[in-house]
Amino acid sequence: MQVPAPFDYKRASTLAEAIALLRECGPDSRVIAGGHSLLPMMKLRLARPEVLIDINHLGELDYIKVDGNTLKIGAMVRHVTLQKSHLAAEYYPIFAEAEEQIADPLVRNRGTVGGSLCQADPAEDLSAVFSALKADIIIAGGSGTRRLPISEFHTGPYTTALNPDEILTEIDVPLRSNTGSAYEKVERRVGDWAIAAVGTMVRVDDGLISEAGIGLTAVRADHFRAKEAEDSLLGRSPSTEAIVEAASLAARHCNPFADQRGPEDYKRHLVEELTKRALSRALNRSLPEVH
Ligand SMILES: Cc1cc2nc3c(=O)[nH]c(=O)nc-3n(C[C@H](O)[C@H](O)[C@H](O)COP(=O)(O)OP(=O)(O)OC[C@H]3O[C@@H](n4cnc5c(N)ncnc54)[C@H](O)[C@@H]3O)c2cc1C
Repeated sequence: MQVPAPFDYKRASTLAEAIALLRECGPDSRVIAGGHSLLPMMKLRLARPEVLIDINHLGELDYIKVDGNTLKIGAMVRHVTLQKSHLAAEYYPIFAEAEEQIADPLVRNRGTVGGSLCQADPAEDLSAVFSALKADIIIAGGSGTRRLPISEFHTGPYTTALNPDEILTEIDVPLRSNTGSAYEKVERRVGDWAIAAVGTMVRVDDGLISEAGIGLTAVRADHFRAKEAEDSLLGRSPSTEAIVEAASLAARHCNPFADQRGPEDYKRHLVEELTKRALSRALNRSLPEVH
């Protein structure tokens, strides 16, 4: 049986207390949210924190709300809450679509949105979703609060821009008029990690694409993003030709490698096909005006 190395446990009741504990306990301490990524890593001895700081009682980070033109999602929102949120789905159906395909109910009941983003696993679905939506990440720590575009939050596989005394507190997603979104994933069996997946967000104003986001999962795209493909869509009418060209660019500019889930060329093929489908579906969705 695999067991973690010994560790101390402290429970925080507020965000301020959690940050104070991180500072007091130093860089060998880690926050634990749902524990679905951290505990397996501790059991495999891939992580050996000396102190775990439990943030599960931080109700102040558990909300999904609209504030002005922004959808705000607290870091402690569980996957299942985002999956079932009518508010999130009203503006961005991509959330429910992606969440329905993340793991299984056990993981979704406990795992958090913040934990997913901080784990920064290249095969993690929500990082691609929030990248497609061009979200901002809000971080709190000993030196105050800061905001980062998601493209600057993930610094590489399993690494983020968080300092040891910092906590991800919120994800801010701009609300956009005339915008559709969609998520397409291929997995070996229900509940598995993606072989490849694609999230899209497209805004059309006066018949032309004015904003586009394409997030890629499990194919080692830079910052989970297909930037060349996004740029190719801007100013174009939403035609089949534009979609096909963007899909081809997304497939060309990602970096998949062969593993037990499939060879490289198969994963590139999936990216191309899933990008076409996700862009087409996003473009066919009409969403509410944002005031
Ligand atoms: C069987 C299984 C199948 C899975 N399948 C999928 C899948 O198909 N798709 C997918 O995307 N994911 C999948 N996952 C991953 C799952 O989504 C994550 O494990 C989970 O969401 C992580 O959240 P958590 O709250 O459990 O994080 P934890 O395990 O508690 O923490 C993960 C890391 O983030 C840090 N952390 C957590 N919260 C914060 C915070 N607010 N601020 C700073 N640091 C923080 C922790 O210190 C730790 O380093 C699967 C997991 C399992 C166990």
